[in-house]
Amino acid sequence: MSVIEAFAPLQTSASVLNDVHSGLNRTRVAEVARPATIAAARSLIANRAQARQPLAMMGARHSMGGQQFLSDGMVVDTAALNRIETFDDQRGPVVVEAGIRWPALLDWLQRNPANRGHWTVRQKQTGGDDFSLGGSIAANVHGRGLGLAPLVDDIEWIEVIDAQGRRRQLSREQEAERFGLVVGGYGLFGLISRVCLRLIPDQTLEREVSLVRAADLMTKFDQAMARGCRYGDFQFAVDPESPDFLDMGILSCYRPVPGNPTERPLAMGSAGFRHLLHLAHVDKSRAFAEYADYYLSSNGQRYPLVAQHSGVYLDGYHVDIDHALGHCGSEMISELYVPRPEFARFMGLAAESLRQHRADPIYGTVRLIERDAVTALAWAREPWACIVFNLHIEHRGNGPLEAAAAFRGLIDCALDCGGSFYLTYHRWARPEQLEAAHPTLRAVLARKRELDPHGIFQSDWYRHLQRCL
Ligand SMILES: Cc1cc2nc3c(=O)[nH]c(=O)nc-3n(C[C@H](O)[C@H](O)[C@H](O)COP(=O)(O)OP(=O)(O)OC[C@H]3O[C@@H](n4cnc5c(N)ncnc54)[C@H](O)[C@@H]3O)c2cc1C
Repeated sequence: MSVIEAFAPLQTSASVLNDVHSGLNRTRVAEVARPATIAAARSLIANRAQARQPLAMMGARHSMGGQQFLSDGMVVDTAALNRIETFDDQRGPVVVEAGIRWPALLDWLQRNPANRGHWTVRQKQTGGDDFSLGGSIAANVHGRGLGLAPLVDDIEWIEVIDAQGRRRQLSREQEAERFGLVVGGYGLFGLISRVCLRLIPDQTLEREVSLVRAADLMTKFDQAMARGCRYGDFQFAVDPESPDFLDMGILSCYRPVPGNPTERPLAMGSAGFRHLLHLAHVDKSRAFAEYADYYLSSNGQRYPLVAQHSGVYLDGYHVDIDHALGHCGSEMISELYVPRPEFARFMGLAAESLRQHRADPIYGTVRLIERDAVTALAWAREPWACIVFNLHIEHRGNGPLEAAAAFRGLIDCALDCGGSFYLTYHRWARPEQLEAAHPTLRAVLARKRELDPHGIFQSDWYRHLQRCL
């Protein structure tokens, strides 16, 4: 360790924090610490461990159940741990500090003369870009891959600072159990300081677009994979008044092809997105029709793989919607999983439940996931269909309570189909829903108490789980 590293500045301040998307997790914290180097982060954690004082870690603040916050406690902001350390231009792996965000890494890969865009990431979130790698690993995220397991499959090794302030390198071969606890462990097993991420060669992908009904979707996905498609998703209609509700959707799949991408391929810019988001709040059927027209017109266009991963996310977009419509709200996401043969039945149950709860869906997507056999709190316990709902929530009056009931209703539908739900979003699941959907949760929390007996790594979400279970 160099002298500069050892004495790198550690900035701290008290703050009120909130999550970026829903804005429903306003949290007063005693201190936000921003270590400038991994060495500074390590001495911070070692000092906290010695004093037996807890802390939480935050990346880009997109999770929505208080996983990254600690009321009246310390939150470590990993944003300055963002260096790219080594890159193997023959095999692809890149070693980065885990506070780096995807856009910085993708941009570097695009511009680096040793790479010139040749190697790129295999998957990342597609609903937005500005996520940290640490936060992505802690939730074990996924993109819209066909035939892919979650992000854990793309990780060669990680370096972690544990609850005693020690650095450990973890992989499938080295401390495999701890590796499986940290990945998908929501920051409860240590601060991920470095990651060695596997990359794949960039490819040109041709987009194939069609309108499909829910009953046919799984067959259509199978056929797309048999044709060689590697990515794909299904954006479904969200107007509860329409007979197409949660049934008709736009299937877009991406197949590797030789040659270059289309010159200036169709892409929806921020203005188009803003327009559609507004429309989805006031005229959902028209929003779907316009979106379908746009997508169908892009059938056959060729995109670089990196463009397929990237999604437009308009920071603070709801302020304009609130202003125009007299709302005071935001969207909240939930992701449900069901065995693929149960998918169409699930969509029927979900449509009924959302109508009953008078929910206000803004958009929804279906993807596929393959089984994760590595992580302890694996959400991809089977090869599942993943169904994402973004519901509008009015923050005034009973809005949050009504939304919580609608989300619990969706979890019941998934459980009825033998499925599960993603822990990264709200914390509105009932205790019995948590246990049914995440059968390893109790054992994982018990192991956490063994490895971190003084509870150094905590969060409001962890405290909530302790109260529930
Ligand atoms: C609009 C939107 C779209 C999304 N799309 C997708 C999607 O397509 N696919 C998907 O899988 N998910 C998706 N998500 C969920 C998102 O990927 C997760 O919530 C992810 O954890 C957010 O990363 P972050 O950097 O914002 O982490 P944060 O929200 O800041 O933190 C998340 C968790 O990671 C922990 N953490 C952060 N950094 C570290 C670290 N260095 N070491 C240890 N723990 C750490 C935190 O303590 C916390 O438990 C989406 C969320 C939103 C709001």
